[in-house]
Amino acid sequence: MFPAYKHEAFTDFTVEENRKAMEEALKQVKATFGKHYNLLVGSEQITTEEKIVSINPSNKEEVIGSVSKANQEIAEKAIETAYQAFQTWQYTDPVERANILVRAAAIVRRRKYEFSATLVAEAGKPWKEADADIAEGIDFMEYYARQMIELKQGKNVQSRPGEHNRYFYIPTGVAVTIPPWNFAFAIMVGTTVAPLVTGNTVLLKPASTTPVVAAKFVEVLQKAGIPEGVINFIPGSGAEVGDYLVDHPKTSLITFTGSRDVGTRLYSRAAKVQQNQNHLKRVIVEMGGKDTVIVDKDADIDIAVDAIVTSAFGFSGQKCSAGSRAVIHDDVYDEVLDKVVKRTNELTVGEPTTKDIYMGPVIDQAAYDKITDYIEIGKQEGRLVAGGEGDDSKGYFIKPTIIADVDVEARIMQEEIFGPVVAFAKAKDFDHALEIANNSEYGLTGAVITNNRAHINKATMEFHVGNLYFNRNCTGAIVGYQPFGGFKMSGTDSKAGGPDYLALHMQAKTVSESF
Ligand code: NAP
Repeated sequence: MFPAYKHEAFTDFTVEENRKAMEEALKQVKATFGKHYNLLVGSEQITTEEKIVSINPSNKEEVIGSVSKANQEIAEKAIETAYQAFQTWQYTDPVERANILVRAAAIVRRRKYEFSATLVAEAGKPWKEADADIAEGIDFMEYYARQMIELKQGKNVQSRPGEHNRYFYIPTGVAVTIPPWNFAFAIMVGTTVAPLVTGNTVLLKPASTTPVVAAKFVEVLQKAGIPEGVINFIPGSGAEVGDYLVDHPKTSLITFTGSRDVGTRLYSRAAKVQQNQNHLKRVIVEMGGKDTVIVDKDADIDIAVDAIVTSAFGFSGQKCSAGSRAVIHDDVYDEVLDKVVKRTNELTVGEPTTKDIYMGPVIDQAAYDKITDYIEIGKQEGRLVAGGEGDDSKGYFIKPTIIADVDVEARIMQEEIFGPVVAFAKAKDFDHALEIANNSEYGLTGAVITNNRAHINKATMEFHVGNLYFNRNCTGAIVGYQPFGGFKMSGTDSKAGGPDYLALHMQAKTVSESF
C-alpha cells in the first residue's frame, strides 16, 4: 500500500537554494528562542513551576527554550492516562497506526530545514550532521510504518486437519521511552514511534539537554492525528522521574538509549517484579561504544585517513559509533598518523552558523570537563600530536585531538570518552589488530580498511561488533540498510532500523481452533 521504502536523501548545502533555505530557517528558529513548551498528558497541556532550560552549547548565554518539568505525581497521572488509552489503541487497525507515522514523516519533511536548524541551535550540530539526524528520524517513521504493515497478519504456522492455527503479534501495554541527546531527533523519534506503531502507548521522557526538539516532534504527532493519551510528553530529570517510570507496575516496555551506567541500572530495575505487577517487562537498552578503525598494511591509505577522521570527529566524536581508537599495522603506522594529523589540523571548529563548520561544540559543561580531563589523561598515556585544548568561555569547544603510541590497556583505549579524541595504537600484524579491537567491554561498531580478502573474511567472523564496516568509516548507519545495535556492554543488540526491531515491542500470540 505504500511505495517501497527508500532512505531520505541528504541535503546538499553547496546548492545555493539549500544554503539560503537553511540560513532562513536558522533565523526563524532564532526568533523563537526562549519559547516555553508544556507537558502533554492525554489532551491536557500542563505548565509547571519548575522548568528545564535548554541552552545553546555554542553560546551558553542563549536560551533555546524551556519545557515544563514532570514530577512523580505528573508521571503517575501520565501512566494512568497511557494505560487507559492503551485499552483502545491496542485494537486500532495497524494500517491506521502506520498512516499516522507516514503523515508525521511528511510534516517533518516539509519542515526539514526548521528541524535541522533547531538541532544546530539546541545540540550544536553542524549542518550536515543536523540534516542527517532529521533524515534518519524521517526514515524511522517511513520504515517502521512499512514494517508494521508487513507484520500485521502475523506469520504462517501449520494447521493439521480439523484445526486452524494462527500466530500474530499484540502490543505489550505502556511503554517508557528514554532517549539520549546526541541523536536528539532520530533516536528520540525511532524509540517513540516503534512502540506506538506496534500498538503500545508511550510516555516520552526526552534528554534534559535537548527537550525542545522533542516537544516540537510531539506537536507533529498530534497534527498527524495521534489519539489522546497515546503519546504523553513528560520531560523530567532522569534520576527523579526515570526510576519511577521504569519501576512502575503498570509500565511494560522500557526502551532506553544512553550510557552504560544508566542502561545497566534500568535493566536491573526493570527486572524486579513490583507489588501488583502481573507481567515481566520487556527491556531494550542500547548503550555506549569504544569503536575501532583497523588499518591493515594492504590498505588504501586515503580511504583509511578519511575513515579515521570522519569516524573520530564527526559531531565532535559524540556518537556511540564514534571511532575513538585507530589500530594501525606497523608498516603503515607513521604514514597514516602523519596524514590523519594533517587532515585533522585543517578541520574547522566553531559555532555551526555556516555549512563550512566541520565541528561544533560538545553538549554541555559536564561533557566539556569530562573530555578535557580525558585529554589530560591521554597526554600521560601517549604522545599528543594534534589538538589537546578547549575553550569554554562562550560555548563548549574542544579541538579535535589525537594521542599517538597508546598502550592497548590505557584508559583512553578502554573508556568511552564521547568527545573529539582518538587514540592511535600500533599492531604488529592483522591478528594482533583484531585482538586489540576486541579487547573492549563494548562491541558496537568497527571498521577495517584492507584490500586483503582473507582478512576481510577473518574480520567478518572474528571482529565482535554489532555493526562492522569495510573500507569506510564506522559511523552513519542508515535505517533499513544497516540495522544498528551492539554486542557486549553496548546493549541488547535490538538492531534499530532493522527487520527484527518491531517484534521486540510486541508479544506473539498463538490461537488454535478445533473443528
Ligand atoms: P545518559 O546520561 O545515560 O542519558 C540517557 C537518557 O537517560 C536521558 O534521557 C537521561 O535523562 C536518562 N536518565 C539518566 N538517568 C536516568 C535514570 N536514573 N533513570 C532513567 N533515565 C535516566 O546518556 P547520554 O549522555 O544522554 O547519551 C550518551 C550515551 O548514549 C553514550 O554512552 C552513547 O554511546 C550512548 N548512545 C548509544 C547509542 C546506541 O544506539 N547504542 C546511540 C546513541 C547514544 P537526563 O537527560 O534527564 O539525565
